[in-house]
Amino acid sequence: MSSTNKDRLDGALKRFGSHPAISKLREFLLMAPDEELFHIDPVRLAEQWNLRRQAVLEILLRAVRFEILGMEWIFHCPTCGGVAKESLQLAHTHEHEFCPVCRVDFRNVLDENVEVFFSVNLEIRNLPTSLREEHEQQIIEDIANNGRHVWRNGGTIKGVEILNHPIFREIFGGETIPLDQSLEIRAATVLFSDVTGSTAMYERLGDAQAYRIIRNHFDLVFQAIGEHDGVPIKTIGDEVMGVFVDEVSAVRAAFAMQDALSSSNESRTDGEKLTLKIGVHRGPVIAVTLNDRIDYFGRTVNIAARIQAVSGPGQLSMGEAFIRAPGVKEALQGRVSRVKRGAVRMKGIDTPVQVYRAAMGQAESF
Ligand SMILES: [Zn+2]
Repeated sequence: MSSTNKDRLDGALKRFGSHPAISKLREFLLMAPDEELFHIDPVRLAEQWNLRRQAVLEILLRAVRFEILGMEWIFHCPTCGGVAKESLQLAHTHEHEFCPVCRVDFRNVLDENVEVFFSVNLEIRNLPTSLREEHEQQIIEDIANNGRHVWRNGGTIKGVEILNHPIFREIFGGETIPLDQSLEIRAATVLFSDVTGSTAMYERLGDAQAYRIIRNHFDLVFQAIGEHDGVPIKTIGDEVMGVFVDEVSAVRAAFAMQDALSSSNESRTDGEKLTLKIGVHRGPVIAVTLNDRIDYFGRTVNIAARIQAVSGPGQLSMGEAFIRAPGVKEALQGRVSRVKRGAVRMKGIDTPVQVYRAAMGQAESF
């Protein structure tokens, strides 16, 4: 087994702070065979550490922050599966790549051809160079013998999982996509929330007091998004936009927001109560950098915003692609007694959009 710089590791772990997984991470870095520390498998760690995948990714990202691990973005050719480009930073990515083997240009899609992998920092543990060489050789042989290298398995971390990980945003918030570039995501879940009654509340309570209530609502909504593996993207007036990799998490976040707002309403007088309305849709988006932050644009984002706009007070309204995603109907069961479907005409969109509405609280009706 390769040598470990224990002092350096312990120094870095000290800066990591008091995280419950630190001793497990330490043991892994000291004891695991070399090959497990190159291209770290989050599925294996999730099993060994008895943690969710998202929690393992959090630890890996924090370990990158303290230079215990390194992180690489890999851009695979969609035709042969080979590596068209490797990059240590998102800031060095481009929307197009070229595969020298297939001689084709292709567009990068964060949930299709972009992989992120973590390996131990060689200054923490000095892995033999043969590991990387053998890995690269394997790719060449796969393409030569089978026409393609299969790089995706259950342990593969897709670029979208990292870009949309709350901890990536927290730690690497300054790391953005180049200004003139955009990266596609084939299937993102976009959620918009808004509150009803805020205009009247500002009139009644005055700006400072009304804003305090709105501000508190932002905290609750942001918290619900973050706790359900989503990323709050921005606020627009009283609206909040959030993005999720997983649709079921978006459903859970919507109900968590509703529950949090209901309980905060209990301690408020009638004139201070807010009612939430939520719209969710799923589909392709592009990720870009705007105002030094990663933001999302595209038809799916526009439709999600419109679905939210036609949502009634206390309603969760959903687009067809979202409600049909695996697990969504099951996640709604138990919280929603019925879902009402209706076609809605939206400005600028030729065909009517199917919207599925559900009342989130028992007291609400539609
Ligand atoms: Zn290729």
